[in-house]
Amino acid sequence: MDAEIISVGTELLTGSILNTNSQYLAKELSNLGVNVHFITTVGDNPERLSTSFNQAYSCNDIILITGGLGPTEDDLTKEVVAENLGLELIENPKEKERIINWFKDRNFHLTKNNFKQALIPENATILENKSGTASGVYINKDGKHIFLLPGPPGEMKHVFNTSVVDIINELNNQEVITNYYNLTGIGESEVEDRIFDLIDNQTNPTLATYAKRGEVLLRVTANGKNAKQKLEEIDSKIKNKLENFIFSYTDQTLAKTVGKYLIDHHLTISTAESCTGGMIGSILTDIPGISSSYMLGLITYSNEAKIKELHVKPETLDKFGAVSEETCYEMCNNVRKILNTDIGVATTGIAGPDGGTKDKPVGLVYTGIATKDFVVIKKNLFQGTRENIRYRSANMVFQMIRNEFFKIY
Ligand code: AMP
Ligand code: MG
Repeated sequence: MDAEIISVGTELLTGSILNTNSQYLAKELSNLGVNVHFITTVGDNPERLSTSFNQAYSCNDIILITGGLGPTEDDLTKEVVAENLGLELIENPKEKERIINWFKDRNFHLTKNNFKQALIPENATILENKSGTASGVYINKDGKHIFLLPGPPGEMKHVFNTSVVDIINELNNQEVITNYYNLTGIGESEVEDRIFDLIDNQTNPTLATYAKRGEVLLRVTANGKNAKQKLEEIDSKIKNKLENFIFSYTDQTLAKTVGKYLIDHHLTISTAESCTGGMIGSILTDIPGISSSYMLGLITYSNEAKIKELHVKPETLDKFGAVSEETCYEMCNNVRKILNTDIGVATTGIAGPDGGTKDKPVGLVYTGIATKDFVVIKKNLFQGTRENIRYRSANMVFQMIRNEFFKIY
């Protein structure tokens, strides 16, 4: 089935907010075996929304529209869609009651325009929204399936997952299975190159690669009766070509995979960060449950801090400099000893844009991990902006932990 996503909202066109709804829906729909052919963004303007809707209606089976279901004057999605389909908008008594109760429960002041949200196109199905006041709407007309979803991303996802997925699966009436291969230490073009024969001319399963920073996600989707068998057949071929780079089979970042490994194996970690300035700590603390593993992080940006807090020898700094293998060694080894953790990690480097020299150019970063049995220091030369160099440094530390502790998790 072919689909179009239409995002409604002038704030999307002015760049005030990022269109995350489209990205989410595009990904979810393709997982459901729906081909998204167009993603359109249109402002809160009835004429232009009308044009976009008719265009989408003429060439797709499924149309998902997000935004414009609110109570204010500029929220016009239901009005425009109903008018174009020749459907009347009818006040739904249950919706009206729900809205009244919603406001009562929260002690919010209800105004007349809130009842606009109780208007539903005739013969449409209401898609319950437990997270907000705007219900979703499903219209099935002339073989076309139109879903109107609220704009706030949390509400949109809620309505999509609790109602839309089931309807689409029923329409599909077929099994769709997706396998994920998460890779690190390899670029997207090399992934493609290695599995080119599998990607070329392949329609079921379909293979797609997505480059994330420092990672590549390979998604393999099969549908139909033999979907499982098809995935099994291609799985061994993929592993054959990419085994060393695969770190997990879930759609999960490297950092999360490493974090989960540390938690599950009761391994404690401490961080001594210079050029990453707490980024590793920030990424770690994004992971739920990491408090059992992440003990403490030190941001030791100055030489003084490296000496005072990490007991890096002044001679080491004098002789080799702060950005050196020797300093990085002492940083990760000492932070581990001082804090008595299983693993100590460190970064020290030149993130730029200034401060580079011929011997130590911008992008030179030493990353290290230490345990009681070994210390590994890696010399990296990263490219790009300051932000990119810092991010890649943090990511490299996670790669190094993965390389030393597990292959696939
Ligand atoms: P609306 O239902 O159009 O009033 O949207 C309500 C709010 O949801 C907007 O102010 C945005 O903050 C958010 N929103 C709407 N559309 C999107 C979108 N496509 N992506 C991300 N957020 C959105
Ligand atoms: Mg809006």
